[in-house]
Amino acid sequence: MNLDVIAGLSLVVILTLAGLAVWRPLVGRAPRLGRRVVCLGVALLVAVALVGFGAYRLMNARSVQLLGHEVASVTTDTKVVALTFDDGPSGAYVDAVLADLRTYRARGTFFVVGSTAEQEGPALRALVASGQEIGNHGFSHARLVFVSTGAVAREVESTDRVIRAAGYLGPILFRPPFGKRLLSAPYYLWQHDRTTVMWDLEPDSIRAIADDPRAMAEYVAENANPGSIVLLHVWSRSRSASRAALPLILRALTNKGYRLVTVTELLNGA
Ligand SMILES: [Zn+2]
Repeated sequence: MNLDVIAGLSLVVILTLAGLAVWRPLVGRAPRLGRRVVCLGVALLVAVALVGFGAYRLMNARSVQLLGHEVASVTTDTKVVALTFDDGPSGAYVDAVLADLRTYRARGTFFVVGSTAEQEGPALRALVASGQEIGNHGFSHARLVFVSTGAVAREVESTDRVIRAAGYLGPILFRPPFGKRLLSAPYYLWQHDRTTVMWDLEPDSIRAIADDPRAMAEYVAENANPGSIVLLHVWSRSRSASRAALPLILRALTNKGYRLVTVTELLNGA
């Protein structure tokens, strides 16, 4: 069953009917056939545009989801921030990333891609062994929109298996690839009582500062609030600026009195 498609088509039908209902009083009681066809066409176009716009906003929204528990930040008075790392992991950089975290007594939350984590077993096990939180970022990193709930289940559950096989015992939070979801993914996650984790700060997605480690650290220090969730990408070769920013971000937040905790700690009121 493809909930995303059903929801989209239902909305088109509803909006078309609503459009016609509004149009009718404006153009008279019994429009001629030609006019009627024009009315229907316009109403349909408006409906499709509205649904497209609404669906796009919804699948990219950081803190709106139709079903299930989703979090982009936490309301707290305690000075805690969660650093989260998407994709990967990679054996090429795991030691450096862990060393940075250790220096600042920080723990991170790593949303790993199942297929990558399977190939990078030692890196995943190193994250687990050092007490990091491991989250699920899908198995193939495919966008989970306009897909069936069965496809969502396969993406999520095969990644869970890889994470458990590395000896990870904690709760496994979920972050959709590209932060995109519509209805199938939220429905599946709601049915399985899984929490979706988004973010409120993403320094390395801001083009103007993404190549400048110092600027990224300043941005995070200036914009972080108690309970913020920061998204970083440190695993690909092209992300050297993000890797260089990590110790600067850790230092800047620590200097401002923040403790760096995992997302689960944040949710549990660390
Ligand atoms: Zn990703």
